Amino acid sequence: MELKRSKMALHAIAVALLLVAPDLVYAVVCHSFQHTGTFRVSHDPKVLLLIIPLGIGLITARPKALSFTYLAFLCLIQLGQFAHIAYFGTCASAHSVYMLLYELGDVIRESANVFWQYAYIIPVVVTPFVGIAYLIRSSERCRLHLVGTILLIGTICAIGTRVPNRHRGAACCPNEIRFTINNSLKVLWGYLLVMQSNMVSIKKYIPYEVIDTGYKPDAPVTIVYIIGESMNYNHMSLFGYERDTTPNLKRLATEQTFYHTPGIAGGIVTLSSCKFMMNIVREADNSFFKCANMTNLFKFAKSRGFKTFYLSAQTEHLLTSIAGVHYIDVLITKDSNIAKARSMQEDYLRYLLDQQTFTDRNFIVLHQWCIHSPYNDFPNIKKFSGSAEARVDEYDSAMTYNDVMITRLFERFNKQKRGKFYIIFASDHNELLGEDGLYGHSHLAPKVADIPVMIQSNDKAFMDEMRAIFKPNHFEIATVIAKLLGYEIRNPNEEPDTFYISGAEYSGKFGYIKYRKSSKDRIVEYLLF
Ligand SMILES: [Zn+2]
Repeated sequence: MELKRSKMALHAIAVALLLVAPDLVYAVVCHSFQHTGTFRVSHDPKVLLLIIPLGIGLITARPKALSFTYLAFLCLIQLGQFAHIAYFGTCASAHSVYMLLYELGDVIRESANVFWQYAYIIPVVVTPFVGIAYLIRSSERCRLHLVGTILLIGTICAIGTRVPNRHRGAACCPNEIRFTINNSLKVLWGYLLVMQSNMVSIKKYIPYEVIDTGYKPDAPVTIVYIIGESMNYNHMSLFGYERDTTPNLKRLATEQTFYHTPGIAGGIVTLSSCKFMMNIVREADNSFFKCANMTNLFKFAKSRGFKTFYLSAQTEHLLTSIAGVHYIDVLITKDSNIAKARSMQEDYLRYLLDQQTFTDRNFIVLHQWCIHSPYNDFPNIKKFSGSAEARVDEYDSAMTYNDVMITRLFERFNKQKRGKFYIIFASDHNELLGEDGLYGHSHLAPKVADIPVMIQSNDKAFMDEMRAIFKPNHFEIATVIAKLLGYEIRNPNEEPDTFYISGAEYSGKFGYIKYRKSSKDRIVEYLLF
């Protein structure tokens, strides 16, 4: 019996490895010849752990016809996935599934046209599945068959969503650092649960045009983009709050090169905002474009010879909306070292920065965790008390800690004498503390998008450009960063002075706010909800 169980366990592990084998083979063999696309194999062992139960299920479920049917289904969706990767250069999104069905005739015609060019994906995908079929066929009946059957069905949901009911919004786009089997099930669920269950049809936009305006090497150049978390400028003394919550930033603001202003977020939760902070996308419901990686800031920086960094005190699931993973040289998140990140709190970013080797051109994205709720998880430099609500005191106290953390990040990079430095801080969204009777974020209300923006640079032209923008929003900030890197985006769909605040899902599926903002007239007018 023991022998039989060990054999079954080995077979289950073998099945899991075979399920991810197409990723490895494609990356090593095909990708090295093609040199195109953004495909990157997952390095996350946790995902493999999720796939092992599927291996056990496939081996032990009875009747075997159930395993074979499911296997054929997986093989089919993986063929579709790799066809998408080979043709488009990126993993399929829920929108790809939608487009496949929407333009089925065109897809069939083009598939026939390019069939032989991409036929190599068939053996890459099918061979491991033949191996799995052989293992299922040779598996012996065991007492676990009922558990196996439940596992088989359960894993369809578990692998697809990873954390059911959480991050549903992320389901529409692939997570580029996971295995394709995970992404295939994920976007299929995204299509069925998110795209089909909410709102109406997908709006079609004309693709943007990326214009190369040229880049003159002016080494050294360091661009630091700090993504803040849940920062409310009404609770920063830098912006006039009566409690002195940000004395260090106030000191920094006495420097000529520093500028701070209220801004407007691209979304009301971290996941949706990140898309608009790191990719130049204007419309909240431009879902195809958001999965296409065309205007990703990491991509732009990498193309100009920058060393790119994404150092984050947050979990890696946000990379789903940040995108451009393929163009990141150094990628470290909270998940890379959870124990360290928890113990060091926001100092984790400083710890990660200390370990890096920088070059003459650096594009560094730092992602903060402070001040996400619960606020009293963070240390205080000064402790406030006496507010009608304890949570306001806790938030203000946490702000004194973040004041020190943010100032340290600025002061690490603002001493560069030779060449240029650009430090841009923008919060991902606001954190309401009783404004209009609301608390936290996630509400689709304009106030949730009110964010602090802080900028420091020794490039006067850049500072003048930023100062001229009234309440810069995430779209405008990303656009200015792209311009620094020598790229301009022509958007044929653009309505003058019109911008968007995305709801909880960045394809516009959970609603959005449209607004008109004029730097000339210095007004913001919210149009419709
Ligand atoms: Zn956030």
